[in-house]
Amino acid sequence: MEIKKIRKKLEKELDGKRFEHTLGVAYTASALAMCHHVDTEKALLAGMLHDCAKCMSNDKKISVCEKHNIPISDLERQNPFLLHAKVGSYLAKKVYHINDEDILNAIASHTTGRPAMSQLEKIIYIADYIEPGRKQAPGLPAVRKQAFQDLDQALIQILRDTMRYLQDTNAPFDPMSKSTYDYYAANRL
Ligand code: FE
Ligand code: FE
Repeated sequence: MEIKKIRKKLEKELDGKRFEHTLGVAYTASALAMCHHVDTEKALLAGMLHDCAKCMSNDKKISVCEKHNIPISDLERQNPFLLHAKVGSYLAKKVYHINDEDILNAIASHTTGRPAMSQLEKIIYIADYIEPGRKQAPGLPAVRKQAFQDLDQALIQILRDTMRYLQDTNAPFDPMSKSTYDYYAANRL
């Protein structure tokens, strides 16, 4: 599917705020790709599609998973919004005809990260956090700068701030975020 068509379809699927965020992530990801010598086209596509399942109802997300044998953890069953990454990756393949595994992985891992991510996966994870529409995250200006210098360092900083924020607000916390953090923090030492 052509990027223009994907964008048109997403404008219909997403609410206004989510669509704005989507464009912010797509262009930020593409700029990070330029900076870090990653395929800019892939970064644009992955950024464009990363939240494609975000505005689907929770029941629908669960039913898509059940129908297509996508595993649901207990935490995800209690907080179905967490499923938008996995469901989004599935939709990217089936509805938007994306066959590139790296793009599909980047969509699937964009909320929690995972150990040993590809450069593209890191870029989408980071772009989701630093895109220009994001305003309240702690230490944002420093992380934005870091992202254009060292992806791993930016990743560690974002994971640390995200875990702290989720703990402070008692929000549901996917153990995968911790595994991702541990992996990258250990590899840095
Ligand atoms: Fe998301
Ligand atoms: Fe997002």
